[in-house]
Amino acid sequence: MTATTPRIAIIGAGPAGLTLARILHINGIAATVFEREEHALFRPQGGTLDLHVESGQLALRRAGLEQEFLRIARYEDQGSRLYDKNGQLIVADDDDSGDRPEVDRSALREILLASLPEGTVQWGRDLREVYARPDGAYDLAFGPDLLGPFDLVVGADGAWSRVRPLVSRYRPQYSGLTFIEFGIDDVDARHPAISKLVGRGKIGVEGDGRNMIVQRNANAHLRGYAIFRVPADWAARTFDFSTPAAARARLMAEFEGWSPEILALIAASNDQIVARPIHALPVGHHWQNRVGVTLLGDAAHLMSPFGGEGVNAAMLDAAELARHLVEAGDWREAVRLYERDMFERVIEPAADAAEAAATELSHIGPELTLEHVRRHAQMREAAAHG
Ligand SMILES: Cc1cc2nc3c(=O)[nH]c(=O)nc-3n(C[C@H](O)[C@H](O)[C@H](O)COP(=O)(O)OP(=O)(O)OC[C@H]3O[C@@H](n4cnc5c(N)ncnc54)[C@H](O)[C@@H]3O)c2cc1C
Repeated sequence: MTATTPRIAIIGAGPAGLTLARILHINGIAATVFEREEHALFRPQGGTLDLHVESGQLALRRAGLEQEFLRIARYEDQGSRLYDKNGQLIVADDDDSGDRPEVDRSALREILLASLPEGTVQWGRDLREVYARPDGAYDLAFGPDLLGPFDLVVGADGAWSRVRPLVSRYRPQYSGLTFIEFGIDDVDARHPAISKLVGRGKIGVEGDGRNMIVQRNANAHLRGYAIFRVPADWAARTFDFSTPAAARARLMAEFEGWSPEILALIAASNDQIVARPIHALPVGHHWQNRVGVTLLGDAAHLMSPFGGEGVNAAMLDAAELARHLVEAGDWREAVRLYERDMFERVIEPAADAAEAAATELSHIGPELTLEHVRRHAQMREAAAHG
């Protein structure tokens, strides 16, 4: 990048925003990240993510964080098991030789944050509005504070992006699926039977138009999602989340008749029980290039979490935008090239995620899940034998 290096504002210190800031930094391009959370530990960052070689891991390699990644990567937690509602094991793939290790989201944020110069992230900055100035640059409104000018505003502010309306009229649509999320602490010591049931990795249990996915995180923590096809306001109407015991009892009631081994997962849950209605942007979401504004990650292509591509796509976006900004003579052209490639690149994962959401809990749901687990097991076996 030449003397015309733009003044860059990145909105959002999620995986996309931080990866972009880091790769720009090691290439001598400064950027400021504005994050609405008050500090790095403001809230637990959520569950475990598997980073793929060709996207999430590639981005960390370009960020010069390979060693840090290896320190937090849990290759041993790549297993996958499927049970029926009676607690009978249908299929197990306990192989840990794959190349999609799990990382905890908070550990990922930690290594990215530690790699940035002090002051790169401004915490407690909740973007309200972006104002276009007559000179073509932009000012950012955070409550009463107006900061700027910036030549390039990058919206890495997730599903409900406040930057997106500058380039797109679309808003995420409810997928018809709601996750009720729960957690189990210290599982190995406190709940050995559950620890054994889940093994190293994740389990799925499907039946009666319901699904439960439970994933092993770091530090003997499990995170579970009970999945329902219901109206968007169903959880808010039927659960009392202010009383964890009541929410837990309500969740137990939804799985009435399931085996005690499976119900034990809910019974052992801690008090953080929350509803996550799943939304997505349309497959093929794109916009007309607007000089000085672009989007990354969920802000650009929110997809349902089935397929586990969201964070990988987000980090690859960041790596690619950074590469274009570093390589191109003109930053405006760099953004155009990034958008052109990104629109194309995310069509397939977004379509796959949309199809998985559409078939989840359908009459062919269990059959497809079974096929998916078997296919993965076969792929790993084939890879292991050359
Ligand atoms: C239940 C669930 C499970 C998932 N599981 C997986 C999985 O297994 N694998 C996977 O790949 N993906 C998964 N995903 C998707 C994944 O979480 C996202 O794709 C990924 O986090 C996108 O990263 P991002 O940086 O674009 O956005 P985010 O991670 O959403 O980060 C956005 C950041 O912007 C900040 N922000 C938002 N608004 C503002 C504002 N106005 N001003 C300032 N800052 C703002 C937020 O606080 C946040 O820090 C899952 C999602 C859900 C909901």
